[in-house]
Amino acid sequence: MHSEIETLKTWITESDNIVFFGGAGVSTESGIPDFRSTDGLYHQKFDYPPETILSHTFFYQNPEYFFRFYREKMLPLDYQPNEAHKKLAALEQAGKLRAIVTQNIDGLHQKAGSKRVYELHGSVLRNYCTKCGKFYSAEFIRDSAGVPHCTCGGLIKPDGFLAAIGWAGLAATIWSVIVPALMLRASRKKFPAAAYSAPGGSLTIYVLLVYGCITAVCHILFVLHYLPMYE
Ligand SMILES: [Zn+2]
Repeated sequence: MHSEIETLKTWITESDNIVFFGGAGVSTESGIPDFRSTDGLYHQKFDYPPETILSHTFFYQNPEYFFRFYREKMLPLDYQPNEAHKKLAALEQAGKLRAIVTQNIDGLHQKAGSKRVYELHGSVLRNYCTKCGKFYSAEFIRDSAGVPHCTCGGLIKPDGFLAAIGWAGLAATIWSVIVPALMLRASRKKFPAAAYSAPGGSLTIYVLLVYGCITAVCHILFVLHYLPMYE
């Protein structure tokens, strides 16, 4: 463990082109529960599972419930950046870190001073009117009552994360079909006959084929089950 930390230190010292990829673990030190840990957000008591609440369908069908959950569990506006956030911001300032890619939606990297932050699942800091696109801050959502509406009358919706999980599932499906298919094609091209005649060759082909099909079917079932919730 000690030597791993030393290695990491050396890498950081020697590099000036770092990209940091992080998730929930970065913010747990700030007191924000991990979505999927034992006492994390996804296991806390609500009438519906969070993945259902945080979906497009649920958002439009039960906006009151959505915003009750959102204000209570998703607006960590009082949380403060921890040492990890601060160190990453310092590394960026020192010209060593190029960007942060995060799965978190809490905005704590920006609060720590990081400038280039790519948020895979959107951010609670960005909320937009579904009608005219006007921007609203997290504070506005927190301080509003019930379902927040724009001055134009449109419904205000948090940016990004509602759709992200569904699209990730769909991407995984496409990936799980394309990769084995390409591998099959490549192996057949390279060993047109040998693949079927060499000992073990045909087995490899069939294992790939069966693996690809099973993965694809699993992903399609998953997406069919979950995607409707996200659109
Ligand atoms: Zn509007």
